[in-house]
Amino acid sequence: MSIRFSSLTKKHFRNLNKMTKQYLIAFLLIASCTVFLFIPSISSAQNLIIRGGWIVHPESAEVIPNPDILIQNGDIAAIQRTTFDDDAKILALDPNDHILPGLIDLHAHLKMEYRGITRDDTTATPKMLLANGVTTIFTAGDVEPEKVLQFKKNVNAGNSYGPRILNSGPYFGRANPDWNPEYTRGDIYRIVDEWAERGVGGFKAKTISPVNLKHLIDRAHHHNITVTAHLNSGWNNTVRSDEAISMGIDRVEHFLGGSALPDSVHAYDGLEQLDPDDPEFDKIIDIFIENDVFFSATMGTFGAWSGSSDPAFEKWVDETVYLTPFTKQLFEKFEEPDTEGTIAAVYGIKKELIKDYYDRGGMIVLATDRPLYLDSSLGPHFNGFFVHREMEILADAGIPNADVLTIATLNGARAMGLDHQIGSIEPGKIAYLMIIDGNPIEDIRRTRTVHTVIKEGNIFNSGYLLNLAEGKLGPQSDEKWMEDK
Ligand SMILES: [Zn+2]
Repeated sequence: MSIRFSSLTKKHFRNLNKMTKQYLIAFLLIASCTVFLFIPSISSAQNLIIRGGWIVHPESAEVIPNPDILIQNGDIAAIQRTTFDDDAKILALDPNDHILPGLIDLHAHLKMEYRGITRDDTTATPKMLLANGVTTIFTAGDVEPEKVLQFKKNVNAGNSYGPRILNSGPYFGRANPDWNPEYTRGDIYRIVDEWAERGVGGFKAKTISPVNLKHLIDRAHHHNITVTAHLNSGWNNTVRSDEAISMGIDRVEHFLGGSALPDSVHAYDGLEQLDPDDPEFDKIIDIFIENDVFFSATMGTFGAWSGSSDPAFEKWVDETVYLTPFTKQLFEKFEEPDTEGTIAAVYGIKKELIKDYYDRGGMIVLATDRPLYLDSSLGPHFNGFFVHREMEILADAGIPNADVLTIATLNGARAMGLDHQIGSIEPGKIAYLMIIDGNPIEDIRRTRTVHTVIKEGNIFNSGYLLNLAEGKLGPQSDEKWMEDK
């Protein structure tokens, strides 16, 4: 188990054996005597053994008794019975505990919008994600890219709680208020180079022109970085999915789109009028499959936004306890969602199309898309908890539970080119795990019971993280929000 000298280590420290404690104290004394500021992120020689319960392998739909998972320096070193090791910490599980790979949410916004100002939340959202078993996120368009980059560094150093962050850097396209539609190829290459150098996890375009998207994709691929986009219908110099795929895009968000959408109107308006049985969709699906493009389905956000009464939206915890008292009041004032408007129609069409896409062999990733919008409401359902809703919607659409779990784990890793590191429980991969009560292949809702999350060998208690997030999501007051500007 990896031990870090930070606020995170207090609970770990209590659990260490006496010899290790003495070693740590001696080390801290030496470290505190050094002249320069030294915040080490070292790994102790201590191993972690996860003992008992079951291991779930979504990709093979197997659930096997856990022989022991041995974690060394944050990696899964072996999955086999481990003879007693004096130096190891043992995490003993209950008989009904099930160990799964940590979830990967590839459209996990940290952003919140209120009174026309948009910011990224690094206080409550990352804790809510991690507590719910999400060990890796792609932030899908940062509105404060510098802040998110700094936060990612803090998480990596063990100084802040959160999943592994694949930051996106700024939006490419007019979704970024600083975007200049006149950017040349040289401008776009320069921005891509700059963020590639700073270790961005992927790029996201939204409301971008075809020529700019092409430059983004070419340069990102030069750095081996993936690109995704919120595309449109071709209306008003926007890009359709089939065009973006021909440029080499890696993922597409929200809509299969393509030439099935009329380019005379905005995608939302076009989608509302579509017939899911239109043979044009079969062609689009084939284009996705032939080009190995992943689809970030973002089903649930359309359901939540339009006040769907699908079972996935039933309440199992009161998520509003995570809102600040001020933000909670804002929610009380929102009007009832329009259950028969455009968004409700789009949600209905998406549910019909996703099963077709899956049946034909289309690749899907888990993507929630839950910014906290407070100038209008997307529904009182928030980050972290939403991954369980998204999985349930995919299962209700007819995708087998094991495949839904693969979508939420290994597919996300593949889509980001990280499947050699994360996405499944195998020796050699980094220990990103979640532990739940019950078998999710029998009942997808069991994922809601996540109680322990392992990230790089560190053990996180979900209840502890959630307690820290309580009352912290959203602005504290009008004045405070405006003042922080
Ligand atoms: Zn989004």
